[in-house]
Amino acid sequence: MIYQRVALIGLGLIAGSMSLAIRRGGLAGETVGTARSAQTREIAREIGLCDRIVDTVVEAVAGADLVVLCVPVGAMAAVAAEIGPHLAPGATVTDVGSVKQAVIDAVGPHLPEDVHFVPGHPIAGTEHSGPRAGFPELFDSRWTLLTPLEGGDPEAEAKLRALWEGMGSFVESMDANHHDLVLAVTSHAPHLIAYTMVGVADDLRRVTDSEVIKYSAAGFRDFTRIAASDPTMWRDVFLSNKDATLEILGRFTEELFALQRAIRTGDGEHLHSFFTRTREIRRGIIEAGQDTDAPDFGRRPKSSS
Ligand code: NAP
Repeated sequence: MIYQRVALIGLGLIAGSMSLAIRRGGLAGETVGTARSAQTREIAREIGLCDRIVDTVVEAVAGADLVVLCVPVGAMAAVAAEIGPHLAPGATVTDVGSVKQAVIDAVGPHLPEDVHFVPGHPIAGTEHSGPRAGFPELFDSRWTLLTPLEGGDPEAEAKLRALWEGMGSFVESMDANHHDLVLAVTSHAPHLIAYTMVGVADDLRRVTDSEVIKYSAAGFRDFTRIAASDPTMWRDVFLSNKDATLEILGRFTEELFALQRAIRTGDGEHLHSFFTRTREIRRGIIEAGQDTDAPDFGRRPKSSS
């Protein structure tokens, strides 16, 4: 057992998966959860998501030696302000927000000096949200990035690392700003591009034509899956990781123009060498065990499943 009592604030995909993974690994004496709406708390109680579900964040953090903020990035500051005065001395506070520097700026000032703050981000997710979306295997063989603060307590960081490892995750520590740039490339910009592509198709009204849905090729279908992700979460990600996302989108636009030009001028060599380079990246991801090379990403048609 790593912690006596883990408090999960916000009971969606990530908190739910954490609670189930903690239970699977026997990593805490008790998990206590709470969420903003009575409806979410009710569902969480019904499905036994945590050992205890309480009605307020103040009750949730009472006596907890680990508090995990699992709300959208834009809601972190308000939650931190509310729990700050009620945290147990010596407790560790962490979060799972997809952006790190903005969360550090928002949460840090509300925490008392005798509490350790170790920000974190599991690079694992699905397009589903809410208390029913969680599952214990979500973090298995995925990376979790911790972005510890300068002068932070190494023991608090080591314990949190052990928790994530116990939940099946690989763990790496890095600087918060570096995290935000890396994630802008690997996650934030791709989501924005998917949202744009699906929006464009909808603007053209073709997406509502049965033919487009029926014959929807893997490319568009995969975009629609990503573009089904939670609107609140993603609004907050872009608003709080502005600089890095804009930097990557600038580079993306330049590449897009270059490809557009190659198509217009019939420069097949440019297209071919570009696509060869990107294929190598895909191969690297498969070799690193972060995705499957099964056809259609391992999905099977409904009839054969
Ligand atoms: P989720 O399934 O949508 O759940 C969000 C939870 O936060 C819900 O319990 C919701 O309460 C609560 N909440 C929403 N707005 C709030 C507010 N203004 N004040 C207080 N509580 C609020 O979200 P999630 O996917 O688990 O994401 C949670 C965090 O994990 C986010 O910071 C996100 O950036 C990060 N993250 C997500 C993924 C992913 O793929 N989804 C991956 C890694 C990290 P109600 O249900 O009562 O409304």
